[in-house]
Order: sequence, then C-alpha cells, then structure tokens
Amino acid sequence: MKFIADGMLGKLTRWLRMLGHDVKYSNELDDAQLIMVAKKERRILLTRDLELYQQVTAKGIDTFYLEGRTEEEKLAELAKRFEIILDIDMTTSRCPKCNAQIESISKEKVTDKVEKNTIAYYNKFWKCPKCGQIYWQGAHWTRIKKTLEKATEELKKLRNKKQSNYIQAGG
Ligand SMILES: [Zn+2]
Repeated sequence: MKFIADGMLGKLTRWLRMLGHDVKYSNELDDAQLIMVAKKERRILLTRDLELYQQVTAKGIDTFYLEGRTEEEKLAELAKRFEIILDIDMTTSRCPKCNAQIESISKEKVTDKVEKNTIAYYNKFWKCPKCGQIYWQGAHWTRIKKTLEKATEELKKLRNKKQSNYIQAGG
C-alpha cells in the first residue's frame, strides 16, 4: 500500500511516513501529474479536493477523499479506511522529510552531529540514509504521542458513527 498526497496534505504526509507508510509528496505537482504518478506507481491518491477525487475515481484509480479538518481527524479517517495502526514503530518508520526508511544508529556515531544535552539524555538514535537527518524520541515525542492518542479517539468516534448508521439502516 503506497500513497501519493496532494499539495494540501504536507503535514499529513509527514505523519503517515512516521507511521511507516510510503507517501510521495510534492507541492509542485499539478492534478494531471498527480494522477499520472498514482497510476504509474500504483499509489493511492490522497486528496482534499473533491473535484480531483471525482476525476480520479472516474478513471478507475484508487483514491481517498479526506474530510477531516484536523490532523487527528484525517489520521482517523485513514486508519478506518486502510487499517493504519496509529502508533509509531521505529523499525518501520520513514523519514518525515524524504520518505526513506530510517535506520537505527549507535550513540557514538551521532556525538558530533547532535547537541551535548541530547547525547546526555537520550540513548537511542535513528538516521535517514537518504537525507542524513538524525532522529531521537526527544521532548517533542510526548506531543507526537498525544496527537496519535487523539487520532485513536477520533477513530473510535468514526467507528461508533458507522455502527449507529448501520442500526438505523437496519431499522
Ligand atoms: Zn530523510
């Protein structure tokens, strides 16, 4: 399962990559180019543009229309539709900047690349083999966890909503 996201979904792209998903993103691609890449690389086109969504659906290319306003809501919609796990597993996580799979790196190898305080407080580090970015579960990690918890809550709401619709439909 691979994705391509439209130019409005830069933030969501970073989340999906962190969650381990292959997402192509460039805000320089126009609609025709997005469709072309989606088709050629068999990527599911994620979009907030209803017109584009309808156009892509008509062509028989896999696409998903995101209605959510917040990142949490969008992540919940995706989790419901594609059974995406809303938890980060560093062994499959991708670089939010460039989409490459990050790799574990020893503390010794990053001592000259990150601040002394970081080295003092953290033991586990990861590196992107493509862009060289170093990652660790720093202070921002709490915020990341919180967003994913909220998204999980949203997912529960979405599932309950579906359930009640079903009951209504069933009479
Ligand atoms: Zn990278």
